[in-house]
Amino acid sequence: MALDQAEKQVQQRRRAMPEDAPTEKPSPVMLTLRAHDGTEYPYPRPEAKATFNNTDGDGISWARWSWNPVTGCLHGCDYCYAREITMRFKQVNPAGFTPLFHHERLSAPANTKIPEQHREDSAWRRVFVCSMADLYGRWVPDEWIYQVHDAMHLNRMWDYLLLTKFPARYNKVDLPPTAWVGTSIDEQKRVRIAEDAFRKISDVKVKWLSIEPLREPLEFSDLSMFDWVVIGAQTETWQGEGTDRKLVPAFGPPFEWVARLVAQAREAGCRVHLKPNLVNGHPGMQLPDEYPV
Ligand code: SF4
Repeated sequence: MALDQAEKQVQQRRRAMPEDAPTEKPSPVMLTLRAHDGTEYPYPRPEAKATFNNTDGDGISWARWSWNPVTGCLHGCDYCYAREITMRFKQVNPAGFTPLFHHERLSAPANTKIPEQHREDSAWRRVFVCSMADLYGRWVPDEWIYQVHDAMHLNRMWDYLLLTKFPARYNKVDLPPTAWVGTSIDEQKRVRIAEDAFRKISDVKVKWLSIEPLREPLEFSDLSMFDWVVIGAQTETWQGEGTDRKLVPAFGPPFEWVARLVAQAREAGCRVHLKPNLVNGHPGMQLPDEYPV
């Protein structure tokens, strides 16, 4: 056999060798996750152990971690940043913003470690629970809440910051002792319901009020049932899909609305935290940045 013919054959054999064949990515192992109405959705099983997410750069100024054992919400707020983010990454969220239980994330409180250099910083103990959902929405099965609460009861080294627009449900469940139990108020119609629910809550670490976004002037009869009041503005989001996609503009409340609430909160003995988004465009302005513990 001529030398060049032999070389050609060697090259052809090499091309046919398995290591030269295109390597196929192994298919991910799938989990089945259930929505509030029982619909099942396939999700890839995470390769690593579940841990909290670090909130750096998420616009959450009061907790270093978030944890989402439930995602999705049906309240339908038109300014919802959680829905915007979820729908932007729809290829990894096949259920969209439909309420979904992530049982594979329940071990995150046990698995997460505070970095050594932040051990003395209380912000690193604070976890925003269900930043992408309302864990206490009317549609949420009791069983989901019980399982999330069990994980919190078993891991009391964390402060769990809870928020809901349906605070009456707090009165029907066993709240974890290290919870910072909060409610979200954007409009006057939610005020009375929140006051009624919070008067009945006891034996939790903190009771707090998140007034974000503040969309109209608010009148509270009493703020003394809260330890901590957080006030923020509405940030711009994009909502809807396809031709229905629209911009929901940012809204900064007038200074008087904020000042009145701050004065009432101080009189009631609450700590006050004003979100940096209240003074966008005024970077030098100092805002109250207090915490209850
Ligand atoms: S309650 Fe929260 S999570 Fe639910 S739609 Fe409104 S802003 Fe979004």
